[in-house]
Amino acid sequence: MPIVPLTGWIRCRKGNVFMNWLLKFMYGRHGPDQFSFWLFILFLVLDLIGSFQAGAAKAIFALLAIAALVYSLFRIFSRQNEKRWAENQKFLAATQPLSRWVQQQKGRWSSRKIYHYFRCPKCGATLRVPRGRGKICIKCPVCQHEFIKKA
Ligand SMILES: [Zn+2]
Repeated sequence: MPIVPLTGWIRCRKGNVFMNWLLKFMYGRHGPDQFSFWLFILFLVLDLIGSFQAGAAKAIFALLAIAALVYSLFRIFSRQNEKRWAENQKFLAATQPLSRWVQQQKGRWSSRKIYHYFRCPKCGATLRVPRGRGKICIKCPVCQHEFIKKA
């Protein structure tokens, strides 16, 4: 076998080739945000539901799943940062009640051994009481209604 002399090459930094390419590729692009993340989750959910369907329903779910995936990727690779940013802000504003509720439930779950949660029978406000206080009279700070509970 003849020896072929190399005339040009690029230095290969171990492991960095892909990252360098990715950084270059993503430069000036919007990148992932919450809206794209949840679109991707939507894609996974639709894909999962679709796998349990048959016939036309399967096709519809597959189509919706792909639409969600394409939209998610389109947003990540978009160069129109401002437009995408505004969309994400709208998305966050629209889902704020839900995300606040999720945060609340998380807090309740992590402090379930310390606190008891009661719902005011009059106005529906959620009231937090330390556990282990026995039978107590609760006065709702919102509507001043008084009721007796065991905490
Ligand atoms: Zn109340």
